[in-house]
Amino acid sequence: MYRKNAWLKYDDKQEVLNFAEKYKSYISVSKNERAAIKEAVKLLEANGFVNVDKVNKIKTGDRIYFLNKNKNVAAYIIGSEPLENGLRILGAHVDSPRLDLKENPIYENKGFALGDTHYYGGIKKYQWTTIPLALVGVVCKKDGTVIDINIGDNPNDPVVGVTDLLIHLASDQMEKSLGKAIEGENLDITLGSMPLSGVEKEPVKTNVLKILKEKYDIEEEDFVSAEIEIVPAGPARDYGLDRSMIAAYGHDDRSCAFTSLMALLDTKEVKKTACCVLVDKEEIGSVGATGAHSLFFENTIAKLFKLMGESHVLWKTRVALENSEMLSSDVSAGYDPLYAYVNEAKNSAYLGEGLVFNKYTGSRGKSGSNDAQPEYYAFIRKTMDEANVNWQNAELGKVDQGGGGTIAYILANYNMKVLDAGIPVLNMHAPMEIVSKVDVYEAYRGYKAFLVA
Ligand code: MN
Ligand code: MN
Repeated sequence: MYRKNAWLKYDDKQEVLNFAEKYKSYISVSKNERAAIKEAVKLLEANGFVNVDKVNKIKTGDRIYFLNKNKNVAAYIIGSEPLENGLRILGAHVDSPRLDLKENPIYENKGFALGDTHYYGGIKKYQWTTIPLALVGVVCKKDGTVIDINIGDNPNDPVVGVTDLLIHLASDQMEKSLGKAIEGENLDITLGSMPLSGVEKEPVKTNVLKILKEKYDIEEEDFVSAEIEIVPAGPARDYGLDRSMIAAYGHDDRSCAFTSLMALLDTKEVKKTACCVLVDKEEIGSVGATGAHSLFFENTIAKLFKLMGESHVLWKTRVALENSEMLSSDVSAGYDPLYAYVNEAKNSAYLGEGLVFNKYTGSRGKSGSNDAQPEYYAFIRKTMDEANVNWQNAELGKVDQGGGGTIAYILANYNMKVLDAGIPVLNMHAPMEIVSKVDVYEAYRGYKAFLVA
């Protein structure tokens, strides 16, 4: 079971480093699910994929994509085999934990304008204080216009942030547990401190609203129909003196989304129809119209049959899904030597050892897990070994230490074969997550091998 470090395979590391640069460009501008999908669509179109709305017939070799509400995409390369024979599917999620502005967010208190937030996904709240944060998202106005907001990523922009107590006055706070020291209702961002002259009531808030009105033509009421997310400001950076790793916000799960997408883009001909599906809302249970539980994905397959001129479309969709194989791609908890006690060393994921497979995830007695069929896992092992992909197997931490889930079980409900796969990450769900460049590259290579196996 000895796993060789994947770096040692590359005498010339340039191909690994070049791919990492592409990933850094992607993740630096993909600060929320909308941005991640917008970039994905740009890449799809640059690589010959056509929006299904512009298509009225499809044939072998066609490259098409479906876009769902700007937050969820499914892209296909039509294979030479009948679609009923099943698809090869790569799936990942593009949402990440963060703070969301509330519907009525802006208030003034003691000379500050503040923005009230509601956190999204699983966060350790203390990690989100005293770091530079950016505002990204959209404001939808009553007249139908959608205004893109990004304040804080451009180095010339201002940033916002969540304050924390000075250590000198924190004796009560320091007695509290990590989970209680920072309260959810206290994760409010500071938006300004300059009063607008001549205004008596809430002059600082009024000034902030005036700036937003001038720059974006939005009113306070417009925040009701908006999605503004507060995320770490700034681009991805090389991490480590050897530049072997990448520090960035949102590796969970955009590292898997990017590698899955690139694997599809760089594939030419396939026997089985190849698919990459990128979903939203995984961090809050894969719910809603753009999450993995949505009917969107199966509807896209029904539409493929329709565009092929087939009858009995719904039944054939069922058959195609049942005959499909999937790598459900989500990050794994990388082994952190400073916190070794949460891991069982021989069933852990190590940075630098390549693509991770998890037969099961879940918590306690594997609760909530898709426990993959060993017959299918054997096929995947063979595929990876034949393509000389470095891979490893892992569980999410020690038994009884916690746990988590992915979208794997949702797709497995169609009775398809699904195995969890992904990239090991340190600091998962923190504002700054860490991945190894070589794992990102091995994931991409592994996914590509899977699509054509
Ligand atoms: Mn994830
Ligand atoms: Mn997650």
